Amino acid sequence: MSKIPHRLYLSEDQIPKQWYNLRADMPEQPDPMINPATMKPATVEDLYPVFCKELARQEMDSTTRYIDIPEGIREMYKIYRPSPLCRAYNLEKALQTPAKIYYKFEGNNTSGSHKLNSAIAQAYYAKEQGLKGLTTETGAGQWGTALSEACSYFGLPLTVYMVKVSYQQKPFRKSVMQTFGAEVIASPSDTTEAGRRILAENPETGGSLGCAISEAVEKAVSTEGYRYVLGSVLNQVLLHQSVIGLECETAMEMLGEYPDIIIGCAGGGSNLGGLIAPFMRDKLSGRHNPRIIAVEPASCPSLTRGRYAYDFCDTGRITPMARMYTLGCGFIPSSNHAGGLRYHGMSPILSKLYHDKQMEAVTVEQTRVFEAAVEFAKRETILPAPESAHAIRAAMDEAIRCRESGESKTILFGLTGTGYFDMTAYSSYIEGRMSDYIPTDADLQRGFDGLPKVD
Ligand SMILES: *Cc1c(COP(=O)(O)O)cnc(C)c1O
Repeated sequence: MSKIPHRLYLSEDQIPKQWYNLRADMPEQPDPMINPATMKPATVEDLYPVFCKELARQEMDSTTRYIDIPEGIREMYKIYRPSPLCRAYNLEKALQTPAKIYYKFEGNNTSGSHKLNSAIAQAYYAKEQGLKGLTTETGAGQWGTALSEACSYFGLPLTVYMVKVSYQQKPFRKSVMQTFGAEVIASPSDTTEAGRRILAENPETGGSLGCAISEAVEKAVSTEGYRYVLGSVLNQVLLHQSVIGLECETAMEMLGEYPDIIIGCAGGGSNLGGLIAPFMRDKLSGRHNPRIIAVEPASCPSLTRGRYAYDFCDTGRITPMARMYTLGCGFIPSSNHAGGLRYHGMSPILSKLYHDKQMEAVTVEQTRVFEAAVEFAKRETILPAPESAHAIRAAMDEAIRCRESGESKTILFGLTGTGYFDMTAYSSYIEGRMSDYIPTDADLQRGFDGLPKVD
């Protein structure tokens, strides 16, 4: 066989025609979501005020293994998919490792991240149902950008509540969203009750994700024909992200490869859940036994130091409760630079798999993450998002271990996006101003104390 290319692009007709629903192959299901109003398992009807019908159905579907991707969604996927599977030859050489390092690059679209894979699906189904518009929140900005792109494509109005500090620090993120026609509002704002209340208490506040979610939800429920959408954590989002793993599977098959170790960064778990889906299927069925590793920031260690408990998915305590690894929905991580990984909980699917010891988790400190990001940029010429660089760090650490043990492992990691809007973070690393804050047990206890009581 000829030498494996630096970047393998599948053809357009190799874009998956179905999403893969990993839950259908899990021997035990994650615990059901609970409706906080009734304290009973949520029904699909309970979800209709929050999600459009098809997405509510997908959220609850734990039996259909493969779900057709509508042609309207595939048409937009074709604009930027399939995404390349890359071989990190230069990084391997620099590390002098016998390991083979592959990465799936999801940053080849304007949002600069994998989030577009689910944004398109969510906007499509909302449009199909005849909804009049969507609202969402964005912290770091990738999700807001992805949804702006998708809504503009399907002709659906979108209001994005953007955390005020981020709005001020990343003005170009805001401009990108506005270019796609989204209305971007710095949160807290005077457009909602929740925002006005917070502003009255603390006029100088820079906002928070929890506050932006509260505003976005209030705006959706008080505007006829609007719904609120979320870009991670949910089962439906992991389902849509399975395109990442399915394309990887096809590409690896073409190369005659199978990963020994699969690595992804984990914020709410959507890219990792999507990347590992077909490989976890093989692991659960006993066909293969890859190691699967979630990488989290040391400042927000949901899997490695969190509790496996029922909690709200949002800081505003409005959403249904899910059993997941969580630091408590009131936990506010220190301001590390990987905004997309500052989430208190973790996908219930990944939480269950981790609880059942089907996958591992590690934490990394952000200075080591940026060291890896800079090394990767120099070797592979892609400037990674700080979130993605968590996976790079762990992949490099595994490759170095291979150098020491002489084992030639095949490593696959998810490169979720690019970091062009994160140059403040890069500057602070390069100028030596970056620090590593790791929460103490007492810090974490305060988050656990706020967990809802469910029995
Ligand atoms: C949002 C984001 C993440 C983390 O989200 P997950 O749902 O855990 O995948 C990772 N990388 C990038 C570039 C992101 O934008």
